[in-house]
Amino acid sequence: MQGLMQDWPLTCDKIITHAKINYPGREIISRQVDGSITRTTYGEIYDRARQLSSALQKRGIKLGDRIGTMAWNNARHLETWYGLIGIGAIYHTLNPRLFPEQLKYIVGHADDRMIFTDLTFVPILEAHQDGLPGVECFVIMCDRDAMPETSLRNAVCYEDLMAEGDGDVSWGRFDENTACGLCYTSGTTGNPKGVLYSHRSNMLIGMTAAMGGALNATGSDVCLMVVPMFHANAWALTFTGPMAGMKLVMPGPMMDGKSIYELLESEKCTFSAAVPTVWLMLLNYLEESGKKLPHLSRVLIGGSACPRAIMETFDKDYGVQVIHAWGMTETSPLGTVSHIEPEIAHLPYEEQLSYRLKQGKPPLIVEMKITDDEGCDLPRDGKAYGTLKVRGPAISKAYFGGEGGQILDDGGWFDTGDVASIDPLGYMQITDRSKDVIKSGGEWISSIDLENAAIGHPKAAECAVIGMPHPKWDERPLLIVLLKEGESATPEDFKEFLTGKIAKWWMPDDVVFVDDIPHGPTGKISKLDLREQFKDYVLPTV
Ligand code: AMP
Repeated sequence: MQGLMQDWPLTCDKIITHAKINYPGREIISRQVDGSITRTTYGEIYDRARQLSSALQKRGIKLGDRIGTMAWNNARHLETWYGLIGIGAIYHTLNPRLFPEQLKYIVGHADDRMIFTDLTFVPILEAHQDGLPGVECFVIMCDRDAMPETSLRNAVCYEDLMAEGDGDVSWGRFDENTACGLCYTSGTTGNPKGVLYSHRSNMLIGMTAAMGGALNATGSDVCLMVVPMFHANAWALTFTGPMAGMKLVMPGPMMDGKSIYELLESEKCTFSAAVPTVWLMLLNYLEESGKKLPHLSRVLIGGSACPRAIMETFDKDYGVQVIHAWGMTETSPLGTVSHIEPEIAHLPYEEQLSYRLKQGKPPLIVEMKITDDEGCDLPRDGKAYGTLKVRGPAISKAYFGGEGGQILDDGGWFDTGDVASIDPLGYMQITDRSKDVIKSGGEWISSIDLENAAIGHPKAAECAVIGMPHPKWDERPLLIVLLKEGESATPEDFKEFLTGKIAKWWMPDDVVFVDDIPHGPTGKISKLDLREQFKDYVLPTV
């Protein structure tokens, strides 16, 4: 027997429509590229998103088309997402920190028809547009009077494009499993892989993030959205915000401690979300300036493990609750959240802290387990650690275009590439990473690409790169080199050799020379052994 409830497809246009009807005057504040502040409302975002939808339709954009956005967090970017979402086109966020080859690969692989860009990125796109032949037109997200002279193909000012529309459009009316957003992840080996969110998965993760056991988002919140919209589906805040009626504050390009503090203070933000590096910059600024945080009540920290010092300082010096969360681009991204639950609420501070510093518990829509190398389930005893696997309705089942092949095991579980333990209370803790990548300030560095570049040095016999702890960036690369018989070299020789071959921020913080590089049973370099060997090593940049 079927239930007798209505069929109401979970499509994301309903989120901004809900905000328009119920919180029309609630504000969205944006820091623009020139540093100025602009204010709009959910009501206006809705109206302009519809107008943009109609303009895009007139230009032939239709259901399933991919449209790139290379933009900061600001109201135009949010309008663009919803303008695309409404007509079933797909927002494809482009991370501006990608280096040219990756950008070309991703835009080509996604087959983006248009790219929306903030003024900041016009020079990057101008320099590389020849490598992006499929892009029919570039939309520059600025006012008419700020429109630059540009060589970008068929460049159009965002406001001129908007004026082509009339708002006469019908939104939704497609299946809830229709693709909604696309975000490539470099957190795997090989080429970046496209994670393709559906309307249903975005609706579910947005609601999940809003829950009391997660962000506890309400209409009384003012959310400073520091996490860039091009990182892991904006941590679902673009959905949770308008769902819950949160006032949104978007910091644009300025994410240094002082700029973040200014927005927290001037807009009386109650909540914010970012990677540890950003919080570290804010805490340093507060310490230097003696400023306090009277309005902020909680911060979401994820993307990398939250350092103890950050949690303690927020707790003790500023009275701000830290919510530590783990997730991945492939998990939409909220995977677990660490909260003070009744079982730990009575514990002394230090003991409680050890739970809060774990990555936490999954929400209802995430199932989680750990397995050994043979794929057998491991106990939840807080001691055993193994491969962390997840499944659920907002977790990838394949990458865009089938890249990477079959990514689920027979039980439908997705291997996260993280190594974790789960304690008897259910708190998961990441202990290591099996994927061969380094996370620096929230961005991925491929150790394999670095090794491939370094091995080109004529004196190198073998090269390995591992991530070493760094207080500001979380991890930084260390290059370990075995020289050819009888050769000698200095770290500077290798750094010089790598210059121009890799993105500047990928440059290893140090190069060390060894007599032997350990290998595993299959002949591959054993990163596990190397990490053990270098566990007491401290980078000179620390
Ligand atoms: P991304 O897909 O770029 O969001 O990266 C996801 C990866 O970041 C995870 O698989 C982890 O390796 C790492 N990560 C995310 N959040 C945390 C956290 N709270 N603690 C430790 N590692 C994390």
